[in-house]
Parts: sequence; C-alpha cells; structure tokens
Amino acid sequence: MKKIFLLCLLVFLGKSVYALDIVYPKSPNVTISADSSFFIGNTNPKSWLKINGEDVKFNKSGAFAHVINLKDGINTFVIESGAERKTYTINKPFAKSVSKSVYRAPQFVEYNYLKNYLVSDENTPMRETPVDSGINRMSHFQKDIPLIVDGEKQNFFRVVLNDNTKAWVAKSDVKLVVDDFINNPASLKSYEHKQTHEFDIYAFHFDKKTPYVMKEGNPFILTFYNVRNNPNSTYTFEVPIKGNLFGYSGKFNGNTFVLKIRKAPKSIKGLKIAIDAGHGGSECGAISCHCDKEKDINLAISKYLEAELKKRGAHVLMTRKNDVYVGLRERVDFANRHDAAILVSIHGNALPDCANPNMHSGTSVYYYYPQARPLADNVLKSMTKSAATNNDQVRQGSLALVRNTNALSILIEVAYLINPDDSDLLRNPEFQKRCAKAIADGIEKSI
Ligand SMILES: [Zn+2]
Repeated sequence: MKKIFLLCLLVFLGKSVYALDIVYPKSPNVTISADSSFFIGNTNPKSWLKINGEDVKFNKSGAFAHVINLKDGINTFVIESGAERKTYTINKPFAKSVSKSVYRAPQFVEYNYLKNYLVSDENTPMRETPVDSGINRMSHFQKDIPLIVDGEKQNFFRVVLNDNTKAWVAKSDVKLVVDDFINNPASLKSYEHKQTHEFDIYAFHFDKKTPYVMKEGNPFILTFYNVRNNPNSTYTFEVPIKGNLFGYSGKFNGNTFVLKIRKAPKSIKGLKIAIDAGHGGSECGAISCHCDKEKDINLAISKYLEAELKKRGAHVLMTRKNDVYVGLRERVDFANRHDAAILVSIHGNALPDCANPNMHSGTSVYYYYPQARPLADNVLKSMTKSAATNNDQVRQGSLALVRNTNALSILIEVAYLINPDDSDLLRNPEFQKRCAKAIADGIEKSI
C-alpha cells in the first residue's frame, strides 16, 4: 500500500512539477485582436525556458508571465523548456481600413411636448448621463413608476424630475402610456416613523407612485419628484445619521414608499455578514500561472473568512458553500433577503491582453456607494499590512455585487492570478488564512 501511495505521489509530482504548462493563451491556435498579449504558465524551476529563442524569466516555483508583441496576421511562437517544445500560432486580424464616412456623434432630440412613460421592470436604473455603464446611477426604480420625458438621445430618454433636474432612462426599460403625469402629480397623504432595534423605518403613504432619489450623507436626503403642493413639485425629507451610515433601502411597496435605515451596529457580535465566493460551477473565473481556478481560491479564502468571523461572534451567511453556479442577482438578493449588514465578495484578479501581468500585483477593493468607502479603505489597509499584499488601490466601480445599498458592499480582488508571485501566494493555505484574518480585522475596524 505504502509503495503504491509513494508511486502515485511521484507520478502526481512528476505531472505537476515537471511539465511545461501554458495556461494562457487558452489553446495553441487562437485569435487575439491586440498589439500585445502574454504567455502565462509554469515550468520546472530547475529547468530553463525560452520563447522564440529568447530567455524567459520564471520565479522560484516556475511560474511565469511573458509579454509578447503581435503583428497583423499569423504570429508563431515556439516555447521550449528542457526536453519539451510547444508551438503556438496567434492570429491577429488585420486592422480594418478606417471608413472615410464622417462619424456623427449622437444628438439630443428635444420633443415639442412631454411624453409619459411607466417603468416596465423591477430594479430599473435611472442615470445621470445617457450611458449604460459607470458610476452614473441615481436610483433603481420599481415597476410602474411614472416618468415624464422631454426628449431622447440614442438609446435613452431624458426624464424631467423638476424644473432644474433631469435624468436618463434606457428606452428598453419603459413603456409609453396615454396619461398626463405633470398635471396629475402624486399626493402625499400621510407619513409614519417607527423603530426596531436594527432599523429606523419611515413610511410615506402616497396616492400613486412617483420618482425619487436617495442621497447618502449626513443628513441622508430622500427627494420625491412631481408631488402636489410642493415648491417645484419636489418634496425633500432629511434624516440625521448617528455615526456612520450602515446600509439602507428605499422602495415603493404599492403606493407606500418605505425607507429603512440601519442603525450603526455597536459590535461584530451577532452582526449579519454575507460572504460571497466569486464564480463557481461552470464559471471558473480566471486561471492562475499554476492552473488553479479562481472559483476554488475564492471559496477557500471565503471559508477561512467564515471561520474567522464566526470566531469573533458574527452571524455569517454564505452565498455559496461549494462548487456551484450562482447568478449575480441571486447573490445580492440572498444578502438582502437575510438582512445582511455587510456584503463581502471575494475574487482574484486578471488582466486583458495588452497589459503586462508582471507590472500588476496585490489587492484592490471595489465599492460603489460612499457608505462602503470606509470599509473598503480599512480592508485594503489591513490586507497590505497583515497579508503583506501590494496596495493596488481602493476603486469605485459599477459591479453588481457592490451596487447594493442594503448592506455595506465591497468586492475584494485579493491578488492577481496571472502575476507569477501572486499566483504562488493565492494557492498557499497560510496566505489564504492571513487574508481571511486581515479582511476580518478590516471589517471589525469599520464597526
Ligand atoms: Zn472574479
């Protein structure tokens, strides 16, 4: 038995350590439309590595990332390490000749009269600019919110909120109705305030739905538009915030708008924290120099984080506990359904062709709403100190997992799977545990 085990171990080691693995490009015949790309992989660290005769550096574990320049047409690369030799052909499509016709920027078309629309789907974004991406979301609307439109630009309608406030909504998210919202504004009938030990809850009873915007800050400002008997048809409600803002939700339930503001927690004990291990199942995420899948690394770190937070008394909720596919919306809904106060999504980073993986390493933390910025800062600070990762910045980004206001939501790119030294760290359980501890410290610092 023992001999068989040893033999298996040798075969296993032989396969994993002494083979030349090329992780990227994904196959020996690929098309890449960029001026440069890279070879990512690992080889026997005691051997040597050449690409088209040029010496390629690898780290102590044999991991490498080597940038290559691409010319139009077929590019051939011969990769040699010890007795192994692999040939890759990368086709870079010829640049299309630039069309002589003059590019015409899309123009705003103002209507002669106002049109009336209803939001046709739940969670419809209203934006500051007519662009379908970036940090430009003002509100997420429920179905049947009435909107007054005064013009259009490309795929967007311009929404009139009041005399001096305009916004944009995608044409595909609304439907035209025969109505006259401007002459039939909403009326606020009554208002209630109640408290639970976790939330301040404000209910605004209207006779019909109406557009609104919530603005973080102290005070927290909730503005309703097209409301009867108010200057500029605008009704503003201010909530003073004690301590830091720590999650909120606001939406119409029938004709009643319910605003829930979480009271800042005093301790991690009993605090609901959702951990989201990125990707899973058929969705692998990025692949490391060592052929590790991002989904597995994310789950390993998430499980260490779960243990670390439970040890400190938190109530931990996992969006996935094993290797299964979970949709992005489902992950956010899960955290909201369980009233999580914090949502932490764990990922590993990668780069597009034309970047140099040797020039990027370390941890970056993403947030969308300002309320999550202190948490993002604390987690990054703690990661760079305790897990000793490079500071790859806190960034504001429009990612599904951080566009949640109910919880303080951040997404952590722990390190780069395609950076050779980072890829060594990411597979190391001791590093994974250090990350979990560092993230937990950053969370505790934010309470
Ligand atoms: Zn990812």
